[in-house]
Amino acid sequence: MRAGKNIGEDAEQPCPICSHDSLKFVRYVYGDELKRNSGRVVYPPEWLRELVTTYDQFTCYVVEVCVDCAWNHLVKAYVAGRRHRRPSGRVGEDRRSSRT
Ligand SMILES: [Zn+2]
Repeated sequence: MRAGKNIGEDAEQPCPICSHDSLKFVRYVYGDELKRNSGRVVYPPEWLRELVTTYDQFTCYVVEVCVDCAWNHLVKAYVAGRRHRRPSGRVGEDRRSSRT
């Protein structure tokens, strides 16, 4: 995977394989709604904001990529979009359980 060369954010830790300081976080977006943008790397990072306000739902994958030895692994995947605008929702407290 060559995606990380000029894109993505630098990771703070070195690569676990080659221990070079060449690890990057690269974000990909996937989703039917995205059409031709599906599977693309989010670059520049501001593009994500546009996607979030344009599409209802898509999936984001954050992948750690070493540009030196090509090691990569999935850090996290999450759903984003207009329907999922809030990054961290509150836990509802007033949940009513139905009593019989
Ligand atoms: Zn490496």
